[in-house]
Amino acid sequence: MVPDMSLNVEAANDMLGPAGDDSVRPFAVEALDVRGRAIQMGPALDAIIARHDYPPPVSRLLAEAIVLAVLLGSSLKFNGRFTLQTETDGPVDMLVVDYRTSGDIRAYARFDRERVAAATGETGVPGALLGVGTLAMTIDQGPATSRYQGVVPLEGGSLEDVAHTYFRQSEQIPTRVRLAVAEMHAREGGAIRHSWRAGGLLVQFLPDAPERVKQRDLPGGDAPEGAYVEDADEDDSWVEAQALAGTVQDDELTDPALPVESLLYRLFNERGVRVFRAAEVRDQCSCSREKVVGVLGTFTAAEIAESTENGAISVTCEFCGKKYGFDPAEFTPSDAPPPAA
Ligand SMILES: [Zn+2]
Repeated sequence: MVPDMSLNVEAANDMLGPAGDDSVRPFAVEALDVRGRAIQMGPALDAIIARHDYPPPVSRLLAEAIVLAVLLGSSLKFNGRFTLQTETDGPVDMLVVDYRTSGDIRAYARFDRERVAAATGETGVPGALLGVGTLAMTIDQGPATSRYQGVVPLEGGSLEDVAHTYFRQSEQIPTRVRLAVAEMHAREGGAIRHSWRAGGLLVQFLPDAPERVKQRDLPGGDAPEGAYVEDADEDDSWVEAQALAGTVQDDELTDPALPVESLLYRLFNERGVRVFRAAEVRDQCSCSREKVVGVLGTFTAAEIAESTENGAISVTCEFCGKKYGFDPAEFTPSDAPPPAA
């Protein structure tokens, strides 16, 4: 097998088998000029969510953010890190998901437990949890390169909504995203085992002929500076692709008995859908003792003193919960004022 092999879905199922849980499956529907990725997440997602043990509405929101980050980050063609981060005024005021192109993911949420309980008592709608603020997507290829950051407003909508806004405003790529999360209850022996699953589908209109992406007015055209013309919605292929993607139900995205290849076949078989080699994702934090030492090494004496409790410094990784302990004497902060010029 060659690394970039592509197969139609039936051949792929014969030769590669289904991607299975926690693997992103890229696909293309050439007849519609559509490309995309699909994933079902199981054990890797459940490990992250279960470790945090957040209230269920927060877990659900974080799971959506993880799937979105994986769908977006897995398109990157270089080694690096994709970070999705919300900062809002809602009961969940921050979500952070790191996706490394190696497939490592980590994530955490910051929230106010009482506000979450108050906000989800009746509806449990994620938009009500996020509130108003921003979603930032940062691409980091390492210290030698400049970082890319795209920021879009979050205005009380869902993460799906904000992804659509991002692609419309920043990328000008017609995009549809579907995200779904499910709590599973399986009987194991005499006990009921609870676990989290999630699924996602990303569909993008990427015609070879650039004139078919009629998103932007001509320079000096009638549209005001920075505006765009949403003519892609009138392109027959994109209209059809969106209509097909729109038929996907939440339970199809998370059904362990429905591999993503089968879903793609159901959606696009009439047009011919090809799939590409899947990429695995895993629950893996990138924290280390060395990195924490690096951060503490920048602290002033006052900050070191402030961080010391009962003669020790204890640092807990917000992503994975790992605890690192230090003797404050390890750090000899140099906070002497700089010599006068
Ligand atoms: Zn960690």
